[in-house]
Amino acid sequence: MPELPEVEALSSFLGARVVGREIARVQVVAISALKTYDPPVAALEGRTVGAVGRRGKFLDVEAGGLHLVVHLARAGWLRWREQVPDEPVRPGARNPLALRVRLAGGDGFDLTEAGTKKGLAVYVVRDPVEVPGVARLGPDPLDLGVEDFAALLRGERRRIKGVLRDQSVLAGVGNAYSDEVLHVARMSPYKLASSLTEEETARLYEALGGTLREAVERSRGLAAGELKAEKKLGMRVHGRTGLPCPVCGDTVREVSFADSSLQYCPTCQTGGKPLADRRLSRLLK
Ligand SMILES: [Zn+2]
Repeated sequence: MPELPEVEALSSFLGARVVGREIARVQVVAISALKTYDPPVAALEGRTVGAVGRRGKFLDVEAGGLHLVVHLARAGWLRWREQVPDEPVRPGARNPLALRVRLAGGDGFDLTEAGTKKGLAVYVVRDPVEVPGVARLGPDPLDLGVEDFAALLRGERRRIKGVLRDQSVLAGVGNAYSDEVLHVARMSPYKLASSLTEEETARLYEALGGTLREAVERSRGLAAGELKAEKKLGMRVHGRTGLPCPVCGDTVREVSFADSSLQYCPTCQTGGKPLADRRLSRLLK
């Protein structure tokens, strides 16, 4: 799933190509991806793109006072096309194409989604906060001071892993970068957020900003098609179960967490002790 750094890079990639350009045609191929009906998608046609931005993991294309807001979900992606085919596309369950935007010059972009579990969401709104997921967003970690970060964790009784990826607490951090941030901070994902000392809070804050900025920097200037590979290459523990930790050489381990799984290094993060798989131990009780 694209997270803050990838959506940031997609946003600058797209912005460099579409700002100042007129939208000629917007074609919704996967009807289920479109979450709004007023204003209609066709209202974007004929308008000039003023800006492309990011809100958490949402991409926001502003054109003549309207906003095309996109959430790529788990398997959604953006593909730039130098020449967008003009003929209508036949929708179908196997067609990965969800939305096609053609600019007045004939170029444009496709939003695609692989797999059968469809989560990609497209909204056409007058104000991005009309999108419920945008309205709920917490502060952007790239604009957050250490005091505000500490305030977010105060009184938070959940485990830190769950807190970091909660979009209403922090906008843009998901499963992958929360694993990475906790590894950089040498902190157990199971640690209760409210139990963090001042020193730990500061360390986590540094790890959060540092990891995200570094990833944004690495992704900057990359074409949309190269971003996924770059994200994977930059990972220290996420998605690397069984491989050596790049810091200490211990084996990266995996444990289930909420609706997915997390990866961590026992030596760097949990005093050498493997975390108990809570889902599994609950089943065994
Ligand atoms: Zn390690």
